[in-house]
Amino acid sequence: MSSSDVLIHSDDPRHPANLICTLCKQFFYNDWCTGTGGGISMRDPKTNYYYLAPSGVQKEQMTPEDLFVMDSQTLEYLRSPKLYKPSACTPLFLACYQKKNAGAIIHTHSQNAVMCSLIFDDEFRIANIEQIKAIPSGKFDPVTKKSIALSFFDTLKIPIIENMAHEDELIDDLHKTFTNYPDTCAVIVRRHGIFVWGPTIDKAKIFNEAIDYLMELALKMYKLGIPPDCGIGEEKEHLKLYRK
Ligand SMILES: [Zn+2]
Repeated sequence: MSSSDVLIHSDDPRHPANLICTLCKQFFYNDWCTGTGGGISMRDPKTNYYYLAPSGVQKEQMTPEDLFVMDSQTLEYLRSPKLYKPSACTPLFLACYQKKNAGAIIHTHSQNAVMCSLIFDDEFRIANIEQIKAIPSGKFDPVTKKSIALSFFDTLKIPIIENMAHEDELIDDLHKTFTNYPDTCAVIVRRHGIFVWGPTIDKAKIFNEAIDYLMELALKMYKLGIPPDCGIGEEKEHLKLYRK
């Protein structure tokens, strides 16, 4: 085994190289990264190396050999698969690592994200839904230092940026959202998809799943004429045709 392959071969299903492949397959079958779209990157908590899914790979067929590995200090590739190019998302992933202290980033071409980007203007909003509690508020408990989640009564806001011809061209607008939405853990790209990050791959996965659930719910509410960010009980006004 070559020295670079040591970075990707492990019997541990939680090893980044194995975990990224497992999650890409799950996300493929969730219609989040079909047609080679989307991608995942995670930082190995043991080595601090960045593991990155390549460009143009069929996500359900990806193997550890397909992954790039990067030194988080020098940003040099420690391992590059011969068959593939680095993902065009790599600069965006690096921005999330460096500016948001992310431990993992998930990028999907979720249809729920795309549809919400057509309905909402510059910000996705949904309020008073139990699943919002899965999303971090961006604030930390001063005593325990633990992340504080949004409450049931909060409004989740996710910025929407415009798509570009190439994914790496999204970088300037991504940086703007870091300034304008310092507490967000996600950015929707109009007519494209979504980027979600978290301190660990497990957290990023939970945030991504919860946000996708909320976007799907928002689309169903919108179809019924209910504003997704309406107050508790206000839906009665919008649904009066269906009530006595
Ligand atoms: Zn994409």
